[in-house]
Order: sequence, then C-alpha cells, then structure tokens
Amino acid sequence: MSSGFLAPRGTRDVLPPESALWQRLESVFRDLCARFRYEEIRTPVFEDTRLFSRGIGDSTDIVNKEMYTFTDRGGRSLTLRPEGTASVVRAYVQAKLGGPNHLSKFFYVCSIFRYERPQQGRYRQSHQLGVEAIGSPGPDIDAEVIGLNAALYAELGVGELAVHLNTIGCQECRPAYRDRLRHQLRSRLDEFCPDCQRRFETNPLRILDCKVPRCGELSADIPSILDALCPACVAHWDGLRRALDAIDVGYQVDPKLVRGLDYYTRTAFEFKSNAIGSQDSLSGGGRYDGLVELCGGRPTPGIGFAAGIERALMAMERAGAAVAKGTRPSVFVARAGEAARSAALRLMHELREAGIAADTDYFDRGLKAQLRSADSTGAWLALIVGDEEMAEGAVALRDLVSGEQVRVPRAQALDRVRSLLAARNGANRS
Ligand SMILES: [Zn+2]
Ligand SMILES: [Zn+2]
Repeated sequence: MSSGFLAPRGTRDVLPPESALWQRLESVFRDLCARFRYEEIRTPVFEDTRLFSRGIGDSTDIVNKEMYTFTDRGGRSLTLRPEGTASVVRAYVQAKLGGPNHLSKFFYVCSIFRYERPQQGRYRQSHQLGVEAIGSPGPDIDAEVIGLNAALYAELGVGELAVHLNTIGCQECRPAYRDRLRHQLRSRLDEFCPDCQRRFETNPLRILDCKVPRCGELSADIPSILDALCPACVAHWDGLRRALDAIDVGYQVDPKLVRGLDYYTRTAFEFKSNAIGSQDSLSGGGRYDGLVELCGGRPTPGIGFAAGIERALMAMERAGAAVAKGTRPSVFVARAGEAARSAALRLMHELREAGIAADTDYFDRGLKAQLRSADSTGAWLALIVGDEEMAEGAVALRDLVSGEQVRVPRAQALDRVRSLLAARNGANRS
C-alpha cells in the first residue's frame, strides 16, 4: 500500500553520503573563486517573468517551453529562475554597481528550474554554479573566466575535457554575416528540422549548432563567422587566444559553437567531456556585452560561465573521482549505568564545543553494545564514564584501534583526547 509522498517528478533528494560529494565540489569551487577574487552573490529563487523573457530571450526554448511561471496572490507574473545570469545582472543594475574602470566579479551556487522531460542527468530542479565578471571588455578577463572553469574541473578530477572556443562577432560585423547565412540557407530551408525553420527567422546563427544530424550536413559548407569579423573582433579574438596560451589553457576552435541572441558578443565557449560522447557539455559561457543595457543599466560589457553541478558529479563518477566518504566522529562517549548519564552528556558536549566531533549511543543499550556501536561509527577513541570512574573523578580512555584502555582524570580528559588526535593526524599526514 503506497500512501506516502514521493519527490515531485524531475526532482531528487541528495542523501548522505552523496551530500558530502556536493559539499566537496562546492568547497573546491568557493576556494577557487576566493583565489581568483570572485565574491559570492545570492539572488532570489523567483523573479519578475519579464526579466527572463528579456534577459534570456523570447525566442529560446527555455523561455518558450521550460519556465516555471506562476501568478502570485497579488496578480504578479513570477518565474522560478531557469538560469543564473539574468538575476545577477538584474541585481548588478539594481544596486547601481559599476562605473568607469570598475570590474565586478561574482560567483554563485544555486538551484535552477526548467520544465524538461526528465532523463539521465537532467532534472526539473537542477543545480548550477557559475561566475560573472561585469565591467571589462576583455579579452584578458575572458581568458580568466575560461581559466577558472578549467581549474575547477582539474581540481575536481573530472578527467579529460575539451574546451570548445569560438567568437560570434559583434553588432558591427554579425548582421552582415547573418544576412549572408540566411541567403545561403534559404534555398534548402525546407530540408531543415522544424526548430531550424523557426530559428531561420528568430536567430539563424543557432542553425549552425543544431544537434539534428541532417541539419549539420546541410550547414556543413557554410563559411565561418571567423572569416567575417570586423577589425575590433579580430583583435579581441587574437588577444583571447594569446591570453589562453599565456595561462596554458588548451582549446579547439569550434565555428559551430554559437549563441544566437543579440546581446551575446564575441567569446563563446563550452567544456565538453571526451569520455562520454562529444555532445556532453559540462559547462558553457561567453560574453554578453549587450545584456546589462537590456536589463536597464548603462551599456556595460560582461562575461561568465555556468556549470551544471549534477553533470560535474557524473563526470567525476566516471573518472573515479567521486568517492563519497561519510563523516566519522573522532570520539565516542559511552556510559555504564544510569548515574553516569548526565556526566556523559556533559563530556560529549564539552568535546563538541572544543571542536572535536563526538557521538554517543541514543538507545540506552548496555556498555558492550555501545562499544560495538562505537566501532561501527569509525571513531578512533572512546571515553567511558562509569560509576567507578565517577567516584574517582576520572574517565576511561580507550583506543578503539589497539583496544588499549587507561584511566585519566576527568579534568585532563579533553587535553588527552586533543593530543592523541593531533598525534594521529600528524601520523596520517606524513
Ligand atoms: Zn565585430
Ligand atoms: Zn535543425
């Protein structure tokens, strides 16, 4: 009989010990951001729906098919954030950050919500981390953002990745390329997939990265935008590649990597896993020099990337880097007899206050059963409080690995535990 509740379709629970992996991933990212001097930004889970239809684009699948939009009790149309960048830019504009020669560098870790058909690695509530650097036209900052993304995957141990890199030009050079593209595609347009036929009007560049094989064949001989760049875009592109060489980030130029909307400019990149088929993108990013203005701010250049956390964890798993270890206490506090109950609780509390992970038995079991339970937690030491010890103002200290047991004065118990743990940690490190 099933009368219980299940997590909603497309969502999942992260339980221990898997949650320890999530913590590790996030702490690697946070540490890296501190070294690269990016600071955390936290934005609301929901925003005015118009922010996303403008900031992501009316013509995108995200806005058209995938948003969780609802009307609140005050009649406002709100949407659960389907990605991170629009909210960050909204917050940047709202707080009036920026100004001449000012660069704001943010990172975020957040949930995103998209109504997708659930499949492996895709959830309706999923998780992203990312950075946004707003204020510099680059290209050094572009290389820094890509370098940070590369360092993240290197430190997580996700294995071999390919960095796909492209430039998509700017408002000066892209319109002419777009016209050329339309001109070349028009005669065979009816052979493309329905999505591409729609893209032909709304943003034809996206036809170049259609995943339908037939579309790829049809657009194979289209000349690259790399041959149609204006001098400023050429200079940026050359500068970006020099900067990436300087920081030793390898990449492959991929003219099919495009983002169609007007506010995207120049740099576009994606990190793809070599291990799992060429289509598996772990993260992506690029320059969005028109987005701040679109969200109501002064014209301000920006660049960022977003990485799927679930995807990164899957890649770590495949690379054998996803070993989830549960936490273990250092000390297990056991007691013999009812009279020792309060003394044992107090001892455990003092250990925890002193920064030592401590656990005990919560089932009123006998001492033998408690010590079996101590072994199963993986604790190294046990402190045992009994009638005899209490009468002497002492506790028993047992090394759970060797089985050796000594009696120590209660007043010295914490210090003894501390020095034993320090000696053990020292031994483990060497
Ligand atoms: Zn240009
Ligand atoms: Zn297509």
